[in-house]
Amino acid sequence: MKLLVVEDESKTADYLRQGLMEAGFKVDLARTGLDGHHLVMTEPYDLIVLDVMLPDVDGWRIMQSLREAGKHTPTLFLTARDSVEDRVKGLELGADDYLVKPFAFAELLARVRTLMRRGSTPMLTDRLQVADLVLDLARRRAMRAGARINLTSKEFSLLELLVRRQGEVLPRSLIASQVWDMNFESDTNVIDVAIRRLRAKIDDDFEPKLIHTVRGMGYSLEAPDEV
Ligand code: CA
Repeated sequence: MKLLVVEDESKTADYLRQGLMEAGFKVDLARTGLDGHHLVMTEPYDLIVLDVMLPDVDGWRIMQSLREAGKHTPTLFLTARDSVEDRVKGLELGADDYLVKPFAFAELLARVRTLMRRGSTPMLTDRLQVADLVLDLARRRAMRAGARINLTSKEFSLLELLVRRQGEVLPRSLIASQVWDMNFESDTNVIDVAIRRLRAKIDDDFEPKLIHTVRGMGYSLEAPDEV
């Protein structure tokens, strides 16, 4: 599990990094908004702890760019003021949770763990979309080009994982553990068969193709024009 902490106050930043590392996470630290912005757009993280008040590129801008790029990395923002306006703004921009400074580290750790468990679930949406593929998360239905696609429950879970982590190459072992809740290291054929079935349903009759095989690595889902 890899986290990014974006925080310009060096004492807080060091304290957060130290604590999160001791809790077993890998931690990257960005001490400026510009660095943070660059890292969230280029590196895959499981969670971002984002300070709002940064001297150069503020946390809101970073959050906005991230969501506009279709990335749903869970984000916990840190705000110095407990203003309703700030909280609403953060949640509207797609943050998943917030903490008001000063906070106890134990509190932050608890929030981080909760968000991790929940995965990259955007709180304010029950729909995911890539090109003309739409997932209705509440009803667990998929549509492509406006037509309903019948998927089994596992196929839907597999597609949801691929869509949530679009653009990332997902190794078979990760897909196995996330979708089947099992370790298929020795039998990744299960994944290949499931992907083939899913492709037949969502890609065979449509353009552009969304599911891609990355030889020797795994699978990714990506619309070519959204790269
Ligand atoms: Ca700050």
